[in-house]
Amino acid sequence: MIKINQNYQKLPGSYLFSTIAGKVREYETAHSDKTVIRLGIGDVTMPIAPEIIRVLHQAVDEMGKAETFKGYAPDLGYSFLRETISEKDYRQRGCRIDADEIFISDGAKCDCGNIQEIFSTDCRIAVCDPVYPVYVDSNVMAGRTGDYDKDLGRFRDVIYMPCTGETGFVPQLPEEVPDLIYLCFPNNPTGAVMTKGQLQEWVDYANEKGSVILYDAAYEAYISEENIPHSIYECQGARTCAIEIRSFSKTAGFTGLRLGFTVIPKDLTADGVRLWDLWARRHGTKYNGAPYIIQRAGEAVYTPEGRKQIEEQISWYMGNARIISDGLRSAGYQVSGGKNAPYIWLKTPGTMTSWEFFDLLLEEVNVVGTPGSGFGPGGEGYFRLTAFGNREDTIEAIRRIRNL
Ligand code: PLP
Repeated sequence: MIKINQNYQKLPGSYLFSTIAGKVREYETAHSDKTVIRLGIGDVTMPIAPEIIRVLHQAVDEMGKAETFKGYAPDLGYSFLRETISEKDYRQRGCRIDADEIFISDGAKCDCGNIQEIFSTDCRIAVCDPVYPVYVDSNVMAGRTGDYDKDLGRFRDVIYMPCTGETGFVPQLPEEVPDLIYLCFPNNPTGAVMTKGQLQEWVDYANEKGSVILYDAAYEAYISEENIPHSIYECQGARTCAIEIRSFSKTAGFTGLRLGFTVIPKDLTADGVRLWDLWARRHGTKYNGAPYIIQRAGEAVYTPEGRKQIEEQISWYMGNARIISDGLRSAGYQVSGGKNAPYIWLKTPGTMTSWEFFDLLLEEVNVVGTPGSGFGPGGEGYFRLTAFGNREDTIEAIRRIRNL
């Protein structure tokens, strides 16, 4: 008889966003006269910037001519893109990251989910609570987490690092030393950030204890304040303890085009082996490269015109974030995030649970957000709203919540 990977059976319940979609669908069917506004989505809504579209068209035309046609892309990515990233995202910020330390992929989710493969299944992982679910679930599938404890809402062998209001939703250094530490800043779902000094403490800790930090910087482009690191490599010593993962999804609206990258410095070793070699081997064996036209579009993000256009989009989204934060704060809600990230994290009123507040907003004012408890038990009593909606809907949603 064929046996399955039993680890998949350990994954709890249905996926958060399908549960939300189901509840909204049910409500809309029963109340077809109501207009529901969705501020729960983590997807962008603005179209791709015109300069990037122009370059995409050009690249498509190249594919139609024998002289410029491109077949398989190099597994690790085209050098035009890797050189550009190395220069613009790293060297210009004072970080030494060479082009060949950058691995191009079709997005950060795959990289966040796949990176654990190069480590032993004995490794102990640490995650923030609340957390972007991919880090935990991909380790569950690999058999690294132990069983799920329903009462605690946690996996037995995972080190959870609480991110609470008292610490600005930033984790404390764990007492029990993990092998792999997942960090994501600016954070999804809390919108929190770490200062350079705070991140430096994590780098020092990882180097001292021999841990590896897996740093997800998918929302780096939303940082607006000084002294917030855009990359972990701005910290001294990060080359020997950190892998960084980035995405073009929220930076330039590539959620449907798909492009991201992972940085593994050649100085980073474990078990006496360079992690760069393992990831290169994995990429070469299991991945055939992001499409040429998409990599050209990615390059256009770094041109002066492309950069200007995506910065306008980001500041427009962040205008929504301000409307949400200011509107809720002045109505007496306790609100954080929304300054260096497109996520607003609010405390549910009184003793309401996250799902109770979700139901209240859906039924009373027809606004959809994301219950914080869907990101882990540490998110209970919180609620996530996003800045990715359109302006009119955002204004109307906040007006409705304020009148609640
Ligand atoms: N990392 C974080 C923290 C995210 O929130 C997301 C998307 O929502 C991703 C990674 C996935 O990015 P991509 O679209 O590049 O797969």
